[in-house]
Amino acid sequence: MTAKIFRSTFLVGILSFLVCAAMFMGVLYGYFENRVYSELKSEAGYVAQGVEDAGKNYFRGLKSDNRLTWVAADGTVLYDSVGDAASMENHAQRQEIREALTTGSGKSSHYSTVYLEKTLYYAVKLTDGTVLRVACTQNSVAAIILGMVSPMCWILVLVLILSALLASRLAKRITGPINRLDLDDPKLDDSLKELEPLVMKLREQNATIRSQMEELGKKQREFTTITENMSEGFILIDSGANTLSYNSSALRILDSAPEDGGGSVLRLNRSPEFRRAVDSALSGEHGEALLTDEEHCYQLMANPVTADGQVTGAVLVIMDVTEKERRDALRREFTANVSHELKTPLTSISGFAELLKNGLVAPDKQREFAGDIYDESQRLISLVEDIIKLSKLDEGAFPPEMAPVELYALSKEVMDRLEPAAKKRNISMELTGECTTVNGVRQILDEMIYNLIDNAIKYNKDGGAVTVSVKQEGAGVRWTVSDTGIGIPYASQDRVFERFYRVDKSHSREIGGTGLGLSIVKHGARYHGARTELSSTPGEGTSVSIVF
Ligand code: ADP
Repeated sequence: MTAKIFRSTFLVGILSFLVCAAMFMGVLYGYFENRVYSELKSEAGYVAQGVEDAGKNYFRGLKSDNRLTWVAADGTVLYDSVGDAASMENHAQRQEIREALTTGSGKSSHYSTVYLEKTLYYAVKLTDGTVLRVACTQNSVAAIILGMVSPMCWILVLVLILSALLASRLAKRITGPINRLDLDDPKLDDSLKELEPLVMKLREQNATIRSQMEELGKKQREFTTITENMSEGFILIDSGANTLSYNSSALRILDSAPEDGGGSVLRLNRSPEFRRAVDSALSGEHGEALLTDEEHCYQLMANPVTADGQVTGAVLVIMDVTEKERRDALRREFTANVSHELKTPLTSISGFAELLKNGLVAPDKQREFAGDIYDESQRLISLVEDIIKLSKLDEGAFPPEMAPVELYALSKEVMDRLEPAAKKRNISMELTGECTTVNGVRQILDEMIYNLIDNAIKYNKDGGAVTVSVKQEGAGVRWTVSDTGIGIPYASQDRVFERFYRVDKSHSREIGGTGLGLSIVKHGARYHGARTELSSTPGEGTSVSIVF
């Protein structure tokens, strides 16, 4: 800007000088020409007087710097102070002569391009009708200019330097205050008086920008707070698949470092599924992918972001579906197991019933067959009951209100119910400990204790022993059942709590097991916020505890 102002000012200075010089010269030249004419007029006046008095003789001995010509009324040159009058052409047609003959006086000028001279003529009519003309030759404007070239050049150089200096100073003076202006906080002082509207506008705009920035910052903070508190991964990309924004959950889920957050989103995950979902979203379609590693399973959902019908980017949301997938797998496995477990007794029942229906069973055996059908039906019933209990626990279908339950009395009650089964195999049962109360759901606790004591009897040796103990342990309660039974092989000890897992399938079936008893215990314990502990020595016995 300074350079532009300098150039313009400098140019204006030079142009002004040249125009002024030309006008000055023009005016000066006109002035001098008028002066010359008036000198010629006065000379013509007194010479005419002389000629009128003395005639041609007046010219004799007359000294004059100007050329004098005496012309007759018909234009014949009677006398000329420079040339030979006789050889000169007729002057009747000369402008100044014609004017003088008609009006009494006349003037004209003649320009010589060869000599760059200008001759000025002034003529007066004498009383006898003749005309006296005085002529003076002077330099033309061009000649004057040519003559002035050298001084003019010096003056021009001087003017150039002066203009440059002044233009530079002026440019700095104009731009100085503007350059010093603090655009972030413009202040009005005396040097900026002329810029007041600009300063006011700047202040206004600064205030607007500041409030907009604050608003934007607030919105950004809100957005960050929301996305950072999301357990789901969130990624925003542009139409070129470059990451615009992401939250820390996205980095954690995709196991990426913050430096991978810039540039292409594919730096965060290079799997073909991820790329396919991103491509799909950027082409305007909803995309989904399941991203898995050894431990986790994540679902990626990619949705296009559009503006004016154009896809301008995409939003990627990644959810941890590990638990859901695990549950789905368990459910699928459970359904397959249930179908299988239900089918076995049903097949037996159907087979026995078919034989009876077709009269293929001898009358003395019919009772035995009916007994088998009854046994299988009982197994089916207990299986269905166990499944119902388990699904109730799964769904949390029990009343959420917990009430104090006295475990010692409850254990006694359950042991009484199982006394006949124990007696059958000559197994002794003992209850030790003290009255101990826990907060829980009686029905579930009953089920858990029943299953565990039942197992201790079922998997015991004939004449073995079962000991139940209830005791306070620190701030909690430990309920334990120990037996002197067959024990559980070490390899199976981790798996006995799984649904339908049985160490010896046929033995378990024989003794009426469903493979769900310990699962119910495990879920029941979890429902009460308790944990289960199992220790077993194959061939010696097993001990299972519930620690509340
Ligand atoms: P089941 O209905 O077959 O008893 P459970 O879930 O109660 O099913 O137990 C799973 C498996 O754990 C049983 O089949 C059995 O092999 C083993 N088991 C459970 N309790 C004991 C125990 N006290 N002693 C030995 N083995 C046991």
